[in-house]
Amino acid sequence: MAENQLLDRLRMRFNQANKKNIYLISGVSIFSLLLIGYLLTGYSSPPQKLASNSNQDAQLSSFPVFKPDTKYGFILDTFHVSKDKIKPNQFLSQILDEHHVAYEKVDALVRGSADIFDVRKLRAGKGYTILAKDATSPAQYFIYEPDVYRYVIYDIENATAKVVEREITTEIKSASGIIEASLWQTMVDNNLTQDLASRLEDVFGWSIDFYHIQNGDRFKVIYEENSIDNKPVGAGKILGAYYKNYDNEYYGIHFENDKHSGYFDLEARPMKKNFLRSPVKYSRISSRFNKNRFHPILKRRKAHLGTDYAAPYGTPILSVANGVVTKASRTRGNGKYVKIKHDKTYQTQYLHMQKFAKGISPGVHVKQGQVIGYVGSTGLATGPHVCFRFWKNGRQVNHLRLNFPPPDPMPEKDIPRFNEEKDKIVEQLNKIDYKTKKVAASVESEKEDQETAP
Ligand SMILES: [Zn+2]
Repeated sequence: MAENQLLDRLRMRFNQANKKNIYLISGVSIFSLLLIGYLLTGYSSPPQKLASNSNQDAQLSSFPVFKPDTKYGFILDTFHVSKDKIKPNQFLSQILDEHHVAYEKVDALVRGSADIFDVRKLRAGKGYTILAKDATSPAQYFIYEPDVYRYVIYDIENATAKVVEREITTEIKSASGIIEASLWQTMVDNNLTQDLASRLEDVFGWSIDFYHIQNGDRFKVIYEENSIDNKPVGAGKILGAYYKNYDNEYYGIHFENDKHSGYFDLEARPMKKNFLRSPVKYSRISSRFNKNRFHPILKRRKAHLGTDYAAPYGTPILSVANGVVTKASRTRGNGKYVKIKHDKTYQTQYLHMQKFAKGISPGVHVKQGQVIGYVGSTGLATGPHVCFRFWKNGRQVNHLRLNFPPPDPMPEKDIPRFNEEKDKIVEQLNKIDYKTKKVAASVESEKEDQETAP
């Protein structure tokens, strides 16, 4: 299960990151803070912190000005600063109590900040900073960092909070790799940010099963790398990618217009399919669709009209396509199950759930990839798994054998612009080498391959 946890960690998404920076303190207030800092508290800093020639500093040229240590929009030197990480089961009230904040103040802060960043969203293991006038005074600010992209400033005195997005710079990068153990390990070996793996999965996950890829599979990718303060923090959008799986070659080209955005193959067909490959990520097929299976509990031959995906208890189960929930109920055999109608032809059913996801009940519309429940072993099940059943025109069929109708093609009028962008991306992809030493060796031994690869 450690592997699953790792994968979960690797897949942390930062999609919400807003590229706009909000400056907390305007030039004017920096000016006044500096004045307060220097004149009232008698602060002085070491000589190596001499002022740079920024505007604010220039205005202060008649004062003995030093470059202050600023973070989160505060001049840290003017505060008593404490840094720590939230401990398991630790509440904000406990932390603030240790920093001399009265309970009524905490209570007011919790209520005043609920709509901005609810303190119930604070997580153990995440870092925080507390600013106070001095070691014995009550804390004035509690600053929490949910992720590298932003921080939250809780203003204790005024019982309010503010979320500040950090400024992200984006640079276009390219990368490549040849897989030996797993896509994730290859990312590590090539010093690539690991969320690039999940971005690649977004591009090719509809065609390639990344959990059963083979040694020697290879990829090339052109992508946006996000940095904060010149430090890479993760992969952004992939602009184009190439993947060779067994003898199949795949290209994914990013394209967007005002109506749609996504990945397309070289013939401008969408990479995204109408149905997900499976209803659970990181799962393995533990029993296939089989009209003549020996049932492990009933101890007799009984058709298995579904595909079983084994996964740990509590793993999210996803709707494989958009649709409407027709059933969310329980029977002795199925345990807790959900059935979804996708269109007049297809329905899907998910059995043995531990519980339904919040809000899942008959009549509710669900989107492709939406969590509808969690893996369990209710009903006739020997262990945690989803029995996934696919209905076509009222009959249960093996979805792994189905050829689904292709998704809507790109509008004709977009194709010329797509071709232009595609040619540029493909040309750049072709220029990328497989760099690492390990890789060089395996490329040597596969020269015939190389001629067909880009
Ligand atoms: Zn089953």
